[in-house]
Amino acid sequence: EREWFGERHVSPEEKTGLVHDVFASVADSYDVMNDFMSAGVHRLWKDRLVRMIRPRSDQVFLDVAGGTGDIAFRIRAKAGPDTAITVCDINPEMLRVGRDRAINRGWMDDFDWVTGNAECLPIPDASVDVYTIAFGLRNVTHIDRALADAYRVLKPGGRFYCMEFSRVTEPMLRRIYDAYSYSVIPKIGEIVAKDRDSYQYLVESIRKFPPQRELETRMRAAGFDRARHTNLSFGIAAIHEGWKY
Ligand code: SAM
Repeated sequence: EREWFGERHVSPEEKTGLVHDVFASVADSYDVMNDFMSAGVHRLWKDRLVRMIRPRSDQVFLDVAGGTGDIAFRIRAKAGPDTAITVCDINPEMLRVGRDRAINRGWMDDFDWVTGNAECLPIPDASVDVYTIAFGLRNVTHIDRALADAYRVLKPGGRFYCMEFSRVTEPMLRRIYDAYSYSVIPKIGEIVAKDRDSYQYLVESIRKFPPQRELETRMRAAGFDRARHTNLSFGIAAIHEGWKY
């Protein structure tokens, strides 16, 4: 299945390389742009996710597509210094920014930073209590492979959490949101980050990602029990959770 990528159609194999380039080129502006485009709301969503997780220091955490460390830092803040937290991302540039931020916080040794693909994680079977992936799953080339690998690395009793852009549930709001994302976001990307194509890609990837119920179905197909979702800001984003028994 070929996918629209900026100006052209690309194969799944090409997508992985292009996604890499997108995040290598936005790594330094990534945090600023997140705040700018979501008016800071992504911080509240991430806080909400970590409140739902209720992290404890005796749990093993894996944050996939963890990029610049936003989720890992929140887990660390709640669970304390002696918590096992691995941040995995396909892009070493994003991890570099994350590591710099950890050093600035005085948390230099508190995380394992691992380069790896969500579809074939360099993580042993049944070794993780809590798997998180925030705004990462839509960038993965084969979502079902990533879900299957999440299931593999979780311990029995472990939990899966995905936070991702989803489908706006209010028709009126949806129209405003679509207009904003299609015309305004690439424009902001062009002006602020000097990179229209990367932000055009982000908008396209949001539109193509499976809506709430479909993602639940695919989680169940990967083996997860009790798959459910919680909408954030009328479904602009959603948190999906599932259990491995
Ligand atoms: N989780 C962070 C957050 O919420 O701010 C970063 C999200 S950022 C939008 C998406 C991240 O997914 C990028 O850091 C990118 O390198 C990473 N990524 C894309 N494809 C991936 C894959 N197949 N496996 C692991 N990480 C991937």
